[in-house]
Amino acid sequence: MTSLVNLLDFDPVQLVAYCGSLGEKPFRAKQLQRWIHQFGASQFDQMTDLAKSLRDKLATRAIVAAPAVISDHTSTDGTRKWLLDVGQGNAVEAVFIPEENRGTLCISTQAGCAVNCRFCSTGKQGFNRNLTVGEIIGQLWMAEFELRRTKGIEPGPRGERQITNVVMMGMGEPLLNFEPTVTALKMMLDDNAYGLSRRRVTLSTSGVVPMIDRLSQECPVALAVSLHASNDALRDGLVPLNKKYPLSELMAACVRYLEFAPRDFVTFEYCMLDGVNDSDEHARELVALVRGGKLTVPCKFNLIPFNPFPESGLLRSKNPRIKAFAGILMEAGIVTTIRKTRGDDIDAACGQLAGEVQDRTRVQERMQKQEEYKRKFGDNFGRIVEISS
Ligand code: SAH
Ligand code: SF4
Repeated sequence: MTSLVNLLDFDPVQLVAYCGSLGEKPFRAKQLQRWIHQFGASQFDQMTDLAKSLRDKLATRAIVAAPAVISDHTSTDGTRKWLLDVGQGNAVEAVFIPEENRGTLCISTQAGCAVNCRFCSTGKQGFNRNLTVGEIIGQLWMAEFELRRTKGIEPGPRGERQITNVVMMGMGEPLLNFEPTVTALKMMLDDNAYGLSRRRVTLSTSGVVPMIDRLSQECPVALAVSLHASNDALRDGLVPLNKKYPLSELMAACVRYLEFAPRDFVTFEYCMLDGVNDSDEHARELVALVRGGKLTVPCKFNLIPFNPFPESGLLRSKNPRIKAFAGILMEAGIVTTIRKTRGDDIDAACGQLAGEVQDRTRVQERMQKQEEYKRKFGDNFGRIVEISS
C-alpha cells in the first residue's frame, strides 16, 4: 500500500504540482486549498465543487490531518491551550489569546529546543525534533476551525475570523527549523488560505543571525528578538547561542532586517529575572546598546515577567523593579510594554510550554518541587500577578 500524503504539508505551488500529478488543472489546486484552509474541510466528499472523479482519487491517496489533540483547556481569562500529539511521546502546544479587537494564536515550531536558554522550560527538555509543515500550519488550521465550531461561527470567508494574528513564540526556535517554518508562514499569508498580513504574523527568535537575513529575503514577517541581556557576558550565560552570534552581530542583523520588514521596528523581548538582568544599570546599558554609537536599532521593548519553574533556580523580578526598569527605557524614548501574563492557571504562560506532560512521573516530580518552592517563596511562585503598565 502506498502511504497517504498529508495535504497540510503542501504550500500553494506544491499543491498545484500535486494536482498536476493527478492530471488536474492548477485551478483545482486553488479550489482544494480553499476547502482545506478557508472552510476547514478534511473530508473530500465535503468538497462539492470538485469533480467526483477527483474526490475519489484524493480519498484513496491523501488526507488532511493536523496533530491529534491530547488535551484542550480554557483558562478563566479565555485563553485556550491545546496540547498536541506529534508522535513518539512528543507533544507541543498551541495557545489562543483572545483580546478585544484581535485573537492571537501562539504556535510551536519544534518539539523541544536545542538552544537551551537558562530560563526556559522548553529548552530544559532538550531537542526532540523539528515539526513538519503540516504540524506547524496544522496548529492554525485546527485552532481556527475549532474556535469557530465552539462559537457556532460558519466556516469559509464569510464567517468571522477567530485568529487575526499569529506569533511563533511557542515551543522551539523557528529559525532552526527554517524551511518548514517559512512554508507555513507563506500559507498564513496566502489569499487562498488565511490571508493574514505580514504585520500580523510575528516570528520570535533567540538570534540565529544568518537565518534572520534569509528570512528577510524569503518571507519578511514582523520580527521579535529575544534579547534578555544588555551585554555579551550576561547573555552568554542566559542564551548560549550568543557565544556564536554576539550582540553586535545580532544588532546589525536587526537593522538589516528592517529594510525588508513589514513594521519599522523590531520587538525586543526581555525576560525579567530577579537580581540577574533587571537593575537600573542593565536598563541604561540596553539603551546604549540599541542607541549605540555605531548603529541605532529602531525597536520596542516587551518586558516579560519571568514565569518560574522549579529547576530554573531563577525568580521573577518584583513588580516595582519591572516598572522602574520600564521607566528608564521609556524615559529614553523607547516604547516599552510589560507583558501581562495570560493563561497562567492552565500553565500556558511563556516558557511554561512543556511537552513532557505525558510523562507522569516527571509531572509528579515537578508538582512536588513546585509545592516545595511555594512553601519557600510564597504562594505566587510559579504564577504571574497581572501588572498594569
Ligand atoms: N525560541 C524562540 C521563540 C519561542 S520562546 C525565542 O526564544 O524567541 C518565546 C518567548 O518566551 C521568548 O522571548 C522566550 O525568551 C520567552 N520565555 C521563555 N521561557 C520563559 C519563561 N520561563 N518566562 C518568561 N518568558 C520566557
Ligand atoms: Fe529555545 Fe526560545 Fe526556549 Fe531559548 S527561549 S530554549 S530559543 S524556545
